[in-house]
Amino acid sequence: MAASKKDIRALTKEDLRVFFVEQGDKAFRGNQVYEWLWQKSAHTFEDMTNVSKETRQMLEDNFVINHIEVDTMQRSKDGTVKNAVRLHDGLVVESVLIPTATRTTACVSSQVGCSLDCKFCATARLKRMRNLNPDEIYDQVVAIDKESRLYHNRPLSNIVFMGMGEPLMNYNNVMKAIDKITSSEGLGMSAKRITVSTSGVPKMIKKMADDDVKFNLAVSLHSAIDEVRTSIMPFNETFPLIDLKEALEYWYAKTKRKISYEYVVWKGINDTQKDVDALVEFCKHVPSKVNIIEYNPIDDGDFKQATNEALENYIHALEKNRIVVNVRRSRGKDIDAACGQLANKK
Ligand code: SF4
Repeated sequence: MAASKKDIRALTKEDLRVFFVEQGDKAFRGNQVYEWLWQKSAHTFEDMTNVSKETRQMLEDNFVINHIEVDTMQRSKDGTVKNAVRLHDGLVVESVLIPTATRTTACVSSQVGCSLDCKFCATARLKRMRNLNPDEIYDQVVAIDKESRLYHNRPLSNIVFMGMGEPLMNYNNVMKAIDKITSSEGLGMSAKRITVSTSGVPKMIKKMADDDVKFNLAVSLHSAIDEVRTSIMPFNETFPLIDLKEALEYWYAKTKRKISYEYVVWKGINDTQKDVDALVEFCKHVPSKVNIIEYNPIDDGDFKQATNEALENYIHALEKNRIVVNVRRSRGKDIDAACGQLANKK
Protein backbone atom coordinates (compact mmCIF):
# COMPACT_ATOMS: atom_id res chain seq x y z
CA MET A 1 0.00 0.00 0.00
CA ALA A 2 1.29 3.41 -0.97
CA ALA A 3 0.98 4.79 2.57
CA SER A 4 3.51 2.31 3.97
CA LYS A 5 6.07 2.85 1.24
CA LYS A 6 9.02 5.08 1.86
CA ASP A 7 9.75 8.20 -0.23
CA ILE A 8 12.79 7.11 -2.23
CA ARG A 9 14.08 10.69 -2.38
CA ALA A 10 14.65 10.66 1.37
CA LEU A 11 17.56 8.27 0.62
CA THR A 12 21.05 9.55 -0.05
CA LYS A 13 23.04 8.27 -2.99
CA GLU A 14 25.00 6.07 -0.61
CA ASP A 15 21.75 4.68 0.86
CA LEU A 16 20.62 3.74 -2.65
CA ARG A 17 23.94 2.09 -3.47
CA VAL A 18 23.71 -0.01 -0.28
CA PHE A 19 20.06 -0.85 -1.03
CA PHE A 20 20.92 -2.25 -4.44
CA VAL A 21 23.83 -4.30 -3.11
CA GLU A 22 21.48 -5.75 -0.49
CA GLN A 23 19.12 -6.67 -3.33
CA GLY A 24 21.93 -8.62 -5.01
CA ASP A 25 22.41 -5.94 -7.68
CA LYS A 26 25.37 -3.65 -8.36
CA ALA A 27 26.02 -0.49 -6.32
CA PHE A 28 26.20 1.38 -9.61
CA ARG A 29 22.44 0.87 -10.02
CA GLY A 30 22.05 3.26 -7.08
CA ASN A 31 23.90 5.96 -9.05
CA GLN A 32 21.63 5.46 -12.06
CA VAL A 33 18.45 5.72 -10.00
CA TYR A 34 19.80 8.72 -8.10
CA GLU A 35 20.45 10.50 -11.39
CA TRP A 36 16.88 9.82 -12.50
CA LEU A 37 15.47 11.10 -9.23
CA TRP A 38 17.39 14.38 -9.12
CA GLN A 39 19.11 15.44 -12.32
CA LYS A 40 16.33 14.12 -14.55
CA SER A 41 13.49 14.77 -12.08
CA ALA A 42 11.72 11.49 -12.93
CA HIS A 43 8.13 11.48 -11.70
CA THR A 44 7.64 7.70 -11.97
CA PHE A 45 9.82 4.61 -11.88
CA GLU A 46 8.53 3.87 -15.38
CA ASP A 47 10.51 6.90 -16.61
CA MET A 48 13.80 5.20 -15.68
CA THR A 49 14.35 3.68 -19.09
CA ASN A 50 17.93 2.46 -18.62
CA VAL A 51 16.85 0.40 -15.59
CA SER A 52 15.40 -3.07 -16.22
CA LYS A 53 11.66 -3.65 -16.01
CA GLU A 54 12.11 -6.03 -13.04
CA THR A 55 14.14 -3.45 -11.13
CA ARG A 56 11.57 -0.75 -11.82
CA GLN A 57 8.85 -3.07 -10.51
CA MET A 58 10.92 -3.84 -7.41
CA LEU A 59 11.30 -0.08 -6.77
CA GLU A 60 7.60 0.42 -7.31
CA ASP A 61 6.88 -2.30 -4.71
CA ASN A 62 9.13 -0.67 -2.13
CA PHE A 63 9.02 3.10 -2.66
CA VAL A 64 7.05 6.11 -3.79
CA ILE A 65 8.31 9.29 -5.45
CA ASN A 66 6.57 12.13 -3.62
CA HIS A 67 6.64 14.81 -6.27
CA ILE A 68 4.95 18.15 -5.88
CA GLU A 69 2.21 19.02 -8.37
CA VAL A 70 1.64 22.52 -9.69
CA ASP A 71 -2.03 22.83 -8.81
CA THR A 72 -2.72 26.22 -10.37
CA MET A 73 -0.47 28.56 -12.28
CA GLN A 74 -1.26 32.25 -12.72
CA ARG A 75 0.53 34.57 -15.14
CA SER A 76 0.73 38.29 -14.49
CA LYS A 77 0.66 40.96 -17.17
CA ASP A 78 4.32 41.70 -16.38
CA GLY A 79 5.41 38.07 -17.01
CA THR A 80 5.51 37.02 -13.35
CA VAL A 81 4.21 33.50 -12.79
CA LYS A 82 2.79 32.25 -9.49
CA ASN A 83 2.48 28.53 -8.79
CA ALA A 84 0.24 27.07 -6.13
CA VAL A 85 2.06 23.87 -5.41
CA ARG A 86 0.32 20.83 -3.89
CA LEU A 87 2.46 18.65 -1.64
CA HIS A 88 2.04 14.89 -1.27
CA ASP A 89 -0.10 15.34 1.88
CA GLY A 90 -2.44 17.83 0.21
CA LEU A 91 -0.99 21.01 1.76
CA VAL A 92 -0.30 23.92 -0.57
CA VAL A 93 2.56 26.44 -0.79
CA GLU A 94 3.33 29.08 -3.38
CA SER A 95 6.36 29.91 -5.46
CA VAL A 96 6.94 32.67 -7.97
CA LEU A 97 8.95 33.22 -11.14
CA ILE A 98 10.06 36.84 -11.52
CA PRO A 99 11.46 37.78 -14.94
CA THR A 100 13.44 40.96 -15.61
CA ALA A 101 15.42 42.00 -18.68
CA THR A 102 18.56 40.26 -17.49
CA ARG A 103 17.49 37.47 -15.14
CA THR A 104 14.74 35.09 -14.14
CA THR A 105 14.44 34.56 -10.44
CA ALA A 106 12.59 31.85 -8.55
CA CYS A 107 11.14 32.90 -5.21
CA VAL A 108 10.56 29.68 -3.27
CA SER A 109 8.85 28.71 -0.01
CA SER A 110 10.55 26.88 2.83
CA GLN A 111 7.62 26.20 5.19
CA VAL A 112 3.88 25.67 4.91
CA GLY A 113 2.66 28.89 6.55
CA CYS A 114 4.94 30.66 9.03
CA SER A 115 5.35 30.65 12.81
CA LEU A 116 6.55 34.25 12.87
CA ASP A 117 4.03 36.99 13.01
CA CYS A 118 5.19 39.89 10.84
CA LYS A 119 2.25 42.27 10.85
CA PHE A 120 2.59 43.30 7.20
CA CYS A 121 2.80 39.77 5.80
CA ALA A 122 -0.07 37.74 4.35
CA THR A 123 1.73 34.43 5.00
CA ALA A 124 1.80 35.23 8.73
CA ARG A 125 -1.97 34.73 8.78
CA LEU A 126 -1.55 31.09 7.83
CA LYS A 127 -0.70 28.86 10.75
CA ARG A 128 2.65 27.12 10.37
CA MET A 129 1.72 23.56 9.43
CA ARG A 130 5.10 22.02 8.79
CA ASN A 131 8.55 22.43 7.31
CA LEU A 132 9.10 21.59 3.67
CA ASN A 133 11.34 18.63 2.88
CA PRO A 134 14.46 19.19 0.76
CA ASP A 135 12.82 17.55 -2.25
CA GLU A 136 9.76 19.80 -1.96
CA ILE A 137 12.00 22.87 -2.08
CA TYR A 138 14.05 21.41 -4.95
CA ASP A 139 10.91 20.57 -6.94
CA GLN A 140 9.65 24.17 -6.73
CA VAL A 141 12.89 25.28 -8.38
CA VAL A 142 12.63 22.59 -11.08
CA ALA A 143 9.03 23.63 -11.84
CA ILE A 144 10.01 27.28 -12.17
CA ASP A 145 13.04 26.45 -14.31
CA LYS A 146 10.71 24.65 -16.73
CA GLU A 147 8.35 27.64 -16.82
CA SER A 148 11.26 30.01 -17.37
CA ARG A 149 12.37 27.99 -20.40
CA LEU A 150 8.81 27.75 -21.67
CA TYR A 151 7.68 31.36 -21.26
CA HIS A 152 10.97 33.28 -21.38
CA ASN A 153 13.22 31.01 -23.48
CA ARG A 154 15.97 30.92 -20.90
CA PRO A 155 16.83 28.87 -17.84
CA LEU A 156 16.33 30.12 -14.34
CA SER A 157 19.23 32.36 -13.31
CA ASN A 158 18.65 33.13 -9.62
CA ILE A 159 16.85 31.77 -6.56
CA VAL A 160 15.65 33.68 -3.51
CA PHE A 161 14.26 32.08 -0.39
CA MET A 162 11.67 34.78 0.16
CA GLY A 163 8.46 32.81 -0.28
CA MET A 164 6.39 31.38 2.53
CA GLY A 165 8.17 30.66 5.80
CA GLU A 166 11.36 31.56 7.62
CA PRO A 167 14.14 29.52 5.95
CA LEU A 168 16.39 29.55 9.00
CA MET A 169 13.64 27.88 11.04
CA ASN A 170 13.93 24.97 8.60
CA TYR A 171 17.68 25.12 8.40
CA ASN A 172 18.68 21.52 7.72
CA ASN A 173 16.18 20.96 4.94
CA VAL A 174 16.94 24.30 3.27
CA MET A 175 20.67 23.47 3.33
CA LYS A 176 20.04 19.99 1.89
CA ALA A 177 17.89 21.51 -0.88
CA ILE A 178 20.60 24.07 -1.71
CA ASP A 179 23.19 21.28 -1.79
CA LYS A 180 21.06 19.46 -4.38
CA ILE A 181 20.38 22.63 -6.39
CA THR A 182 24.08 23.47 -6.59
CA SER A 183 25.36 19.92 -7.03
CA SER A 184 26.40 18.67 -10.47
CA GLU A 185 24.14 15.71 -9.65
CA GLY A 186 21.22 18.12 -9.24
CA LEU A 187 20.72 21.39 -11.11
CA GLY A 188 24.35 22.51 -11.04
CA MET A 189 23.49 26.14 -10.23
CA SER A 190 26.07 28.42 -8.71
CA ALA A 191 25.55 29.17 -5.00
CA LYS A 192 26.39 32.80 -5.81
CA ARG A 193 23.04 33.01 -7.56
CA ILE A 194 21.12 31.95 -4.46
CA THR A 195 19.99 34.30 -1.69
CA VAL A 196 18.57 33.15 1.62
CA SER A 197 16.42 35.85 3.15
CA THR A 198 15.80 35.78 6.87
CA SER A 199 13.88 37.91 9.29
CA GLY A 200 17.04 37.69 11.40
CA VAL A 201 17.65 34.68 13.64
CA PRO A 202 21.07 35.51 15.15
CA LYS A 203 22.08 32.01 16.22
CA MET A 204 21.33 30.58 12.78
CA ILE A 205 23.13 33.40 10.94
CA LYS A 206 26.23 32.48 12.92
CA LYS A 207 25.70 28.81 12.16
CA MET A 208 25.53 29.56 8.43
CA ALA A 209 28.83 31.42 8.68
CA ASP A 210 30.37 28.48 10.59
CA ASP A 211 29.04 26.08 7.97
CA ASP A 212 30.92 28.08 5.34
CA VAL A 213 27.92 28.48 3.04
CA LYS A 214 28.55 30.06 -0.35
CA PHE A 215 25.19 31.68 -1.02
CA ASN A 216 24.15 35.26 -0.22
CA LEU A 217 22.39 36.52 2.85
CA ALA A 218 19.52 39.01 2.93
CA VAL A 219 17.85 40.28 6.08
CA SER A 220 14.30 41.66 6.19
CA LEU A 221 15.18 44.61 8.36
CA HIS A 222 12.37 47.18 7.91
CA SER A 223 13.52 49.18 10.92
CA ALA A 224 16.76 49.78 12.80
CA ILE A 225 14.91 50.96 15.92
CA ASP A 226 13.98 48.18 18.33
CA GLU A 227 10.56 49.54 19.37
CA VAL A 228 9.50 50.11 15.79
CA ARG A 229 10.81 46.75 14.60
CA THR A 230 9.15 44.89 17.47
CA SER A 231 5.83 46.55 16.66
CA ILE A 232 5.87 45.18 13.10
CA MET A 233 8.01 42.05 13.62
CA PRO A 234 7.21 40.86 17.15
CA PHE A 235 9.99 38.25 17.32
CA ASN A 236 12.41 41.22 17.45
CA GLU A 237 11.63 41.25 21.16
CA THR A 238 13.39 37.86 21.46
CA PHE A 239 16.08 38.63 18.88
CA PRO A 240 16.75 42.37 19.30
CA LEU A 241 18.84 44.40 16.89
CA ILE A 242 21.93 44.27 19.08
CA ASP A 243 22.02 40.46 18.72
CA LEU A 244 21.27 40.69 15.02
CA LYS A 245 24.08 43.19 14.55
CA GLU A 246 26.54 40.97 16.37
CA ALA A 247 25.52 37.94 14.27
CA LEU A 248 25.92 39.95 11.05
CA GLU A 249 29.38 41.10 12.12
CA TYR A 250 30.25 37.46 12.72
CA TRP A 251 28.87 36.52 9.28
CA TYR A 252 30.94 39.17 7.54
CA ALA A 253 34.13 38.38 9.47
CA LYS A 254 33.85 34.74 8.37
CA THR A 255 32.47 35.02 4.83
CA LYS A 256 33.58 38.47 3.67
CA ARG A 257 30.26 38.71 1.84
CA LYS A 258 28.08 41.82 1.95
CA ILE A 259 24.62 41.65 3.42
CA SER A 260 21.47 42.90 1.70
CA TYR A 261 18.86 44.58 3.86
CA GLU A 262 15.29 44.35 2.61
CA TYR A 263 13.45 47.44 3.67
CA VAL A 264 9.88 48.64 3.12
CA VAL A 265 8.98 52.21 4.06
CA TRP A 266 5.45 52.54 5.45
CA LYS A 267 3.51 55.69 6.04
CA GLY A 268 3.44 56.65 9.73
CA ILE A 269 5.52 53.62 10.77
CA ASN A 270 9.13 54.08 9.67
CA ASP A 271 9.12 57.22 7.51
CA THR A 272 10.67 59.82 9.85
CA GLN A 273 14.17 61.28 9.90
CA LYS A 274 14.86 59.29 13.07
CA ASP A 275 14.13 56.06 11.15
CA VAL A 276 16.41 57.11 8.32
CA ASP A 277 19.27 58.01 10.67
CA ALA A 278 18.93 54.71 12.51
CA LEU A 279 19.16 52.74 9.26
CA VAL A 280 22.25 54.66 8.14
CA GLU A 281 23.91 53.94 11.49
CA PHE A 282 22.96 50.24 11.33
CA CYS A 283 24.43 49.94 7.82
CA LYS A 284 27.77 51.24 9.01
CA HIS A 285 28.47 48.14 11.11
CA VAL A 286 28.87 45.63 8.29
CA PRO A 287 29.39 46.15 4.53
CA SER A 288 25.90 46.04 3.14
CA LYS A 289 23.45 47.33 0.59
CA VAL A 290 19.83 48.29 1.03
CA ASN A 291 16.95 47.18 -1.17
CA ILE A 292 14.01 49.48 -0.68
CA ILE A 293 10.98 47.47 -1.73
CA GLU A 294 7.69 48.85 -2.87
CA TYR A 295 4.94 47.70 -0.53
CA ASN A 296 2.07 45.54 -1.71
CA PRO A 297 -0.98 46.14 0.39
CA ILE A 298 -2.70 43.07 1.82
CA ASP A 299 -6.41 43.15 2.48
CA ASP A 300 -6.87 45.10 5.69
CA GLY A 301 -4.88 48.19 4.70
CA ASP A 302 -3.20 48.89 8.09
CA PHE A 303 0.09 49.34 6.24
CA LYS A 304 0.40 51.92 3.50
CA GLN A 305 3.28 52.69 1.18
CA ALA A 306 5.10 55.86 2.29
CA THR A 307 5.24 58.97 0.14
CA ASN A 308 7.85 59.40 -2.58
CA GLU A 309 9.34 62.17 -0.50
CA ALA A 310 9.96 59.77 2.39
CA LEU A 311 11.59 57.27 0.02
CA GLU A 312 13.76 60.00 -1.47
CA ASN A 313 14.84 60.97 2.02
CA TYR A 314 16.07 57.41 2.66
CA ILE A 315 17.82 57.19 -0.70
CA HIS A 316 19.53 60.53 -0.29
CA ALA A 317 20.81 59.74 3.22
CA LEU A 318 22.08 56.29 2.24
CA GLU A 319 23.84 57.54 -0.87
CA LYS A 320 25.36 60.43 1.05
CA ASN A 321 26.89 57.84 3.37
CA ARG A 322 28.11 55.75 0.41
CA ILE A 323 25.73 52.89 1.11
CA VAL A 324 24.45 51.20 -2.05
CA VAL A 325 20.69 51.47 -2.35
CA ASN A 326 18.32 49.95 -4.92
CA VAL A 327 14.64 50.61 -5.22
CA ARG A 328 12.68 47.52 -6.20
CA ARG A 329 9.39 48.00 -7.91
CA SER A 330 7.04 45.22 -7.13
CA ARG A 331 6.13 42.52 -9.66
CA GLY A 332 3.07 40.34 -10.06
CA LYS A 333 0.81 42.50 -7.90
CA ASP A 334 -2.25 41.68 -10.02
CA ILE A 335 -1.95 37.99 -9.05
CA ASP A 336 -0.95 38.52 -5.37
CA ALA A 337 2.52 37.21 -6.14
CA ALA A 338 4.50 40.12 -4.79
CA CYS A 339 6.58 40.16 -1.62
CA GLY A 340 4.50 39.57 1.51
CA GLN A 341 1.40 38.66 -0.50
CA LEU A 342 1.73 34.87 -0.60
CA ALA A 343 -1.26 33.46 1.23
CA ASN A 344 -2.72 30.65 -0.88
CA LYS A 345 -5.39 32.89 -2.37
CA LYS A 346 -6.71 31.98 -5.76
S1 SF4 B 1 7.66 38.07 6.41
FE1 SF4 B 1 8.60 36.03 6.25
S2 SF4 B 1 9.15 35.55 8.40
FE2 SF4 B 1 7.66 37.23 8.51
S3 SF4 B 1 5.68 36.18 8.73
FE3 SF4 B 1 6.01 36.54 6.52
S4 SF4 B 1 6.90 34.62 5.78
FE4 SF4 B 1 7.14 34.64 8.02
